[in-house]
Amino acid sequence: MRGTVLYAPGDVRVEDRPDPTIEQPTDAVIRLAATCVCGSDLWPYRGIEAIDGPSPMGHEYVGVVEDVGSEVRNVQPGQFVVGSFFASDNTCEICRAGYQTHCVNRQPGAATGGQAERLRVPLADGTLVPTPGMPDADLVPSLLAASDVLGTGWFAAVAAEAGPGRTVAVVGDGAVGLLGVLAAKQLGAERIVIFSRHESRQKLALEFGATDVVVERGDEGVARIKDLTGGLGAHSVIEAVGTQESMMQAIRATRAGGHVGYVGVSHDVALPGEELFFSGVHLHGGPAPVRRFLPELIDLICSRRIDPGKVFDLTLPLEQAAEGYRAMDERRAIKTLLTV
Ligand SMILES: [Zn+2]
Repeated sequence: MRGTVLYAPGDVRVEDRPDPTIEQPTDAVIRLAATCVCGSDLWPYRGIEAIDGPSPMGHEYVGVVEDVGSEVRNVQPGQFVVGSFFASDNTCEICRAGYQTHCVNRQPGAATGGQAERLRVPLADGTLVPTPGMPDADLVPSLLAASDVLGTGWFAAVAAEAGPGRTVAVVGDGAVGLLGVLAAKQLGAERIVIFSRHESRQKLALEFGATDVVVERGDEGVARIKDLTGGLGAHSVIEAVGTQESMMQAIRATRAGGHVGYVGVSHDVALPGEELFFSGVHLHGGPAPVRRFLPELIDLICSRRIDPGKVFDLTLPLEQAAEGYRAMDERRAIKTLLTV
């Protein structure tokens, strides 16, 4: 089969790779309907995150089950399924509490090699969620978004306690931040402020439910949020970048007693203890337990109440994955969908 491999920063190739097979009785093998490039794939692509030799890429996937191991009960060949980037059993105490990304049996197996024609998914019963019947083709991008960026934006909004009567600010206008806007809207937030200086991203944020756009960042951006909230700061702030600047912007834009939901993969972030102590804000986040939200998100998508697939503003065949990375790296595209 064909699949993407990152050889070195900036060097993504699509090449022949061995077809995945059932290795454990709890595995499934799926044929992908579509895949995509993640903002987090850009960290190794840019050389900020080291890779240990040629690395198969991709961890967002939807598709049709082709084969299952002898112990798989909940999914069958022929079903269309959505999964998430860590495989989880969905039965341990941590999973049952809704933190499947921290499953005691979690496997990163589903986290690599998803930009390919086929994928082996470990712990299939816990990891994969079937859709009700075969979805219409136009729903595939939205279901693909659910496998990571929508689930991650949703978790960020939940962690930030977005809800009725609340002002939510979103740091980061990538796919996760934009879908954090959509999630905050669905959760009933009263006012949703996106930090963005890119016209196309501002436009999509407004379509997803943002009420205000702030172009300033850093301390100036924080001052704008204070202006909009009677000097108090937002109740809920979504942090969807993962840098020192973005994390401090999120904490400083939050009012005392408010909540920061941080989902940008942290890169060299160091929190100043004294400032944190006196801020009085709640911090909660990390790798999103997308699996917790999948049944609800699949339902919202299949009943056409949300359209998160709009974050894909570039569609290319898998063979042109390298251009898909380049376009996102240069911020010419918000998110690239790869057809398989
Ligand atoms: Zn578990």
